[in-house]
Amino acid sequence: MKWKVGDTTITKLEEIVYPEFPDVIPAATPDVVKKVKWLFPHFVTAEGVLSLSVHSLIVDTPGATLIVDTCIGNDRDRDPFEVMHMLSTSYMEDMVSAGYHPDGVDYVLCTHLHLDHVGWNTKLVDGAWVPTFPNADYLMSKQDLEFWGSIDANAQDDFMQLQRKVFEDSLQPVLDAGLAKPVEGAAEVCEGVSLVPTPGHTPGHVSVQIESAGETALITGDFIHHPIQFNDPNLVSPFDVDNDAAVATRHRVFGEYADSPTLIIGTHFAGPTAGKLVRDGDTYRLDV
Ligand SMILES: [Zn+2]
Repeated sequence: MKWKVGDTTITKLEEIVYPEFPDVIPAATPDVVKKVKWLFPHFVTAEGVLSLSVHSLIVDTPGATLIVDTCIGNDRDRDPFEVMHMLSTSYMEDMVSAGYHPDGVDYVLCTHLHLDHVGWNTKLVDGAWVPTFPNADYLMSKQDLEFWGSIDANAQDDFMQLQRKVFEDSLQPVLDAGLAKPVEGAAEVCEGVSLVPTPGHTPGHVSVQIESAGETALITGDFIHHPIQFNDPNLVSPFDVDNDAAVATRHRVFGEYADSPTLIIGTHFAGPTAGKLVRDGDTYRLDV
């Protein structure tokens, strides 16, 4: 799947789709989902269960090739998170088939440092984790690096323990290779691509703004996980570090982009993945 934004092309590179992933927003039960008719059939199952896609977005500008978020990755011990444990997908082969070679990627942009966004930062070669994109600058939030890089070794929380493994196999090798470029706040990456702070899901979470020839797009990252949150920005995810900040970010960003020509591209939206954000009574809807 591809979108044109002026002279820039954005390509969706799918790693895995979970047809049913209700845990991401537990309050969005089938009864709640069924009231939001426009979610059918793309974003939920016929029974009203949330679907979730894990994909990268390759941004090809006239001057640079960037990859936004690198999914879960193969060969990773993600126990006890079984649905993401020891994957073996054709992600890298699919990237090459789409016309992109890892050596040709100029920038890797991490919206945040969760396991499903940094996996292919590295790959396993002869038993060692090495950067997948050897010629790229890997941009990531300084705040997130500090937060996820200092998890207590004795943390009782399974998810925090899992994120320690993620840091070790998917981030530390990038830091060791000198390819990580920590950024603070809003930042221009290259002509037509910039990072905009959308905190809450993680402390330093960023979205990616793309601009070319008068057209614009926004790659969300996880300040929104599922399109049902356009209908109700107050629906929260247990994966948010700070639910209140995430809710505030959604209200602010939705208000800013509603009824604008900006293409909104969801990092976890299934099916068509992108659309225009429109006001719908006192709430919002994604027009695909
Ligand atoms: Zn995610």
